[in-house]
Amino acid sequence: MLTKSDFLKHTQCYRYLWLYKYRKDLLPKEADLNLQKLFSEGYEVEPYAYKLFPGGVSAMAGEIKEQITLTKKLIKDGVKTIFQPTVTSYKLFCRGDILSFNTKAKAWDIYEIKSAVSVKGINIIDLAFQKICYESAGLPINKLHLIFVNKEFVRDGEVDPKKLLKVEDLTDQVKELISQVNLDIKSAHKILDLKEEPQIRILKQCSKPYPCDFSDYCQRDWPEHNIYNIAGGLSEKKLNLLLDQGILDIKDIPDDFLTNHKSIKHHQAVKHNKVYIEPDNIKADLSQLEYPLYFFDYETYSSAIPIFDGYRPYQQIPFQYSLHVLVKPNGKLEHYAYLAKDWSDPVPELAKTLKKQIGNKGSVLAWFASFEKGRNKEIAKHYPLFADFFEDINNRMFDPIMIFKNGYYVHKDFHGSASLKSVLPVLVPKLSYKELNIQEGGSASESWRKMIDPKTQAKEKKQIYDDLLKYCQLDTLAMVEILKVLQKL
Ligand code: SF4
Repeated sequence: MLTKSDFLKHTQCYRYLWLYKYRKDLLPKEADLNLQKLFSEGYEVEPYAYKLFPGGVSAMAGEIKEQITLTKKLIKDGVKTIFQPTVTSYKLFCRGDILSFNTKAKAWDIYEIKSAVSVKGINIIDLAFQKICYESAGLPINKLHLIFVNKEFVRDGEVDPKKLLKVEDLTDQVKELISQVNLDIKSAHKILDLKEEPQIRILKQCSKPYPCDFSDYCQRDWPEHNIYNIAGGLSEKKLNLLLDQGILDIKDIPDDFLTNHKSIKHHQAVKHNKVYIEPDNIKADLSQLEYPLYFFDYETYSSAIPIFDGYRPYQQIPFQYSLHVLVKPNGKLEHYAYLAKDWSDPVPELAKTLKKQIGNKGSVLAWFASFEKGRNKEIAKHYPLFADFFEDINNRMFDPIMIFKNGYYVHKDFHGSASLKSVLPVLVPKLSYKELNIQEGGSASESWRKMIDPKTQAKEKKQIYDDLLKYCQLDTLAMVEILKVLQKL
């Protein structure tokens, strides 16, 4: 039986489809978390979409067999709109979001709900699969639509589904794809009949449209320094050329093969086990710094349905910052933090507190500063009272990541990445995220939402509060320590 969700995996690759069907045990734990987040965003949007169809009846009930029986019964009883209709037909299984009977056309209109803010190619494939599946189960299909989130929506009190959501008719696009999807369904069935896992090269399909959940498994035998992680990346053509020669290790890449200067340096670093440092360029960059130095980092939260008034879907809401301050070289390091505790827009209080702590002189250091700058611009727009302050901070921003992105410091153990989490363990091994309960921004964000939820127990709130403070503090302390290493050069 080929389900809709199994089938959609083929867009990544047929190996994914096979693994997803037969070897779910190989999925890493984080895949569950990512999936949960995706599901919870979907679940958030669904009730609003259902409100667009008053009188709709749900076909969700108990086990799959009961859902199929209930769907049939609702159709027989003349119900005009069915939520989560479930059907099977020859070797296909489908549970869509909404079927609505179009009396004039004497056929059903399909509505698929997505928590995204735009239509993607995969949504059209999804609808095409549904059309094929429903029609082969004897339900004539008329129009096909996608319901998705309107990115221009701004929350103002109670959410109005008609303003929050957009409905797009994709019937023509689906029709164009039907014959291809029919062929793909046949191929997918053949793949699922295979006893052995199909072998497929790791190429761009592994990260597009989404990073594949089986990446760790498919990469299990790779050398530590492999061609996929080379700084600057390799085109699919170049990857294929290397794979044709059986080259997987960066050190085995021929010297004249690479053209990008970042890749060349990384290659040399691995091949000769050397660290490449350009002290003059680093010094020139660091000479822009002006004391006091403010090491700054935001944690933010975003969701499909904005949780506070004045925000758009998926707009990042800063709820926490960590700020280390070094007034003069070798001076005493001070630390400040802000973490919102309650279910209300955290930004006004956060901005007020930050304004007291960042003076009007000195450089503000943020790793991947474009993120912090973007949030500052949004705060300035949203709260004009703070506009001058945040504009000034942005003008004084310095991004240490550029030293690594520009290849002034290249270490093979950065694995081609300039992220803080790649650079820190190499330059400052004594600092680590490993001991923390919260180790990355995604879980910080979800934990915060849980913490401010009035339903969460006080003890758990306190634990999350402490964990969040530790996590964000490490992000800025990491910058302080990395800067020390760079300054010593
Ligand atoms: S990692 Fe790549 S090759 Fe492996 S299953 Fe995923 S998409 Fe396919």
